[in-house]
Amino acid sequence: MPELKEPGPGRPIPPVNMRLGWTWIIILILIVAALGIGRMSQPTETSWQIFERDMLLRNAVEKLVVADERDVRVYLKKEFSEDPEFKESFRLGPFSGDKLNPGPHYYFSIGSVDSFERKLDEIQNDMNRSERVEVTYVSNTNIWFLIIPWVLPILLLVLLFRFYSGRTAGTAQGPPSVFNFGRSTARLQEEGSTSNVTFADVAGLEEAKFEVKEICDFLKDPVRYTRLGARIPKGIMIVGPPGTGKTLLAKAVAGEARVPFFSISGSEFVEMFVGVGASRVRDLFRRAKEKAPCIIFIDEIDAVGRTRARTGIFTGSNDERESTLNQLLTEMDGFGTNSGVIVLAATNRADVLDPALLRPGRFDRHIYLELPGLTERKAIFQVHLRKMKIAGDVDVDALAAQTPGFSGADIANICNEAALIAARATKDQIMRQDFMDAIDRVVAGLERKSKIITPREKKIIAFHESGHALASWFLPLMDPIMKVSIIPRGKTLGAAWYLPEEKQIRTFSEFTQRLSALLAGRAAEEVIFGEVSSGALDDLEKVTREAYTMIAWYGFNKRIGNVSFYDSTGRQEVSIQKPYSEETAMLMDQEVRKLVAEAYDRSVALMKEKRDLLVRLAGRLLTQEILERPELEKILGKREIPVTINEQAKVSSAA
Ligand code: ADP
Repeated sequence: MPELKEPGPGRPIPPVNMRLGWTWIIILILIVAALGIGRMSQPTETSWQIFERDMLLRNAVEKLVVADERDVRVYLKKEFSEDPEFKESFRLGPFSGDKLNPGPHYYFSIGSVDSFERKLDEIQNDMNRSERVEVTYVSNTNIWFLIIPWVLPILLLVLLFRFYSGRTAGTAQGPPSVFNFGRSTARLQEEGSTSNVTFADVAGLEEAKFEVKEICDFLKDPVRYTRLGARIPKGIMIVGPPGTGKTLLAKAVAGEARVPFFSISGSEFVEMFVGVGASRVRDLFRRAKEKAPCIIFIDEIDAVGRTRARTGIFTGSNDERESTLNQLLTEMDGFGTNSGVIVLAATNRADVLDPALLRPGRFDRHIYLELPGLTERKAIFQVHLRKMKIAGDVDVDALAAQTPGFSGADIANICNEAALIAARATKDQIMRQDFMDAIDRVVAGLERKSKIITPREKKIIAFHESGHALASWFLPLMDPIMKVSIIPRGKTLGAAWYLPEEKQIRTFSEFTQRLSALLAGRAAEEVIFGEVSSGALDDLEKVTREAYTMIAWYGFNKRIGNVSFYDSTGRQEVSIQKPYSEETAMLMDQEVRKLVAEAYDRSVALMKEKRDLLVRLAGRLLTQEILERPELEKILGKREIPVTINEQAKVSSAA
């Protein structure tokens, strides 16, 4: 294992409290020392009366020193200070100082120097002494009184400063202070440390694994490649929706190649302060080069790597991001091809990245991850179930079939959720039902049986959900419905579960049927109750979004034509100008309304036609609350589902 310079897992950073602890101990020692020294030089305190009666009148005083116009230090004559009888005659405390060093033996405080001098004079006049007691004046006698008012506030400031900078910059490397603000916050995982993710932990993603295996081989044995003059890519961009295993894949590369792994999120480069991002980039690459061969993983690179826009009104604040990006580009150009540092970056918005970042020599190799298909989902389930105690009735195929559109992270979440549900019921194994509950919970949120719903509301919800179920049953291009429920979950009051087919493209008819199915809840309410409720908010939101995308993106409308205002560059977000005219905007609005109105009319017609079925379905739902597919089939009859694209085409042309 290489020696660690940065505090990695092998050399933990002392927690903030411990570091502060040392400072406190030093300060405490200083204070105690100060008090101690003060004490040592301080003689025993006495009073004016004792001084007058026992010392001055007995002619025992050698000299007096007035310190800081406040204290009078009494030096006794040698013969008196050594005389035990004299000492015993004192009522107040012992001598300070020792015989050999007859330093001030006593002191007392005075109100003012004037009155002290007057009194002293009067007494000495009364005594008729020719020889007067010598009086001298000193000031600033105790150095600590001088130093402490200066030093203490500074010390306190320094301490506060350290404490706060320790809290904010105290991330992963070195004792944090304001001086390493510009240091990269990348976390370093050394070989042999906690993360030992390998390709066996990454299910599916076969093509992606194949691509990155070459990187592992290179990191393990660079000579094999460099000997032939091969050039290994410096940067690899992993693109895919959230939770598809981008981070996991990068970790697996590091784990397989057994090299250090720096991971940082793109957003960590972007700070409020100018220049910090660029300096963090520099620092990250410097640290990485020291540790080569190694892997740098930059998550969410779109946070820094967005297209450098022409500066407009809304982009003024992006200068810092741009200079960070420039620094990143420079660094990637700067290190040699075969220097052993490989940068992996992840994003789910490859479309908004700056083209300069994707140029050859930078992130020129791209790996696309998609949401897992049926077999991949099965594999992901298997990876996660490996570590769990599951009962014999759990069918991985069925689980994979019931989770279309789920990402790897969703599946990991379901497995964990199922384990929690089983543990809550103190079961020894996780059963099939636990997984079903976990899926429902992840899809629709937690069941809220305690939510109070009036019988009338319940009736409306039952008809609303039955409307959805009915429409998706009879609209031939809709995804098959699996389950419908009127138990409130999360924010929703009822829900219908579909089994979406995994399709890459959808036809116009599929879109319009989906609009009808989404509006069917409201249509059912209108047909049955003669008025509509606010329960359709979520549906209407989806309908509006879908209808606008149909017209503005997919060119589905004859009057608008085959044009698309979809923005794959991400630049429109910062532009204030719409790429179409006011007339087009108006036309789009009209066409959206027409499209939605037609879809709604179709739904209403369907609800009227199948009114009997609707009433039966809603009645059953009211009593049972949940209807699964077999029960739906009993009420609605067997559903015809087109199997092939050709068949779909037939159905859609007939529709
Ligand atoms: P991303 O970086 O793409 O957002 P992550 O790599 O952080 O997603 O994935 C989150 C979690 O999801 C992982 O820790 C892992 O448990 C699970 N996961 C995702 N994809 C897979 C996969 N292909 N195989 C196994 N687990 C996966």
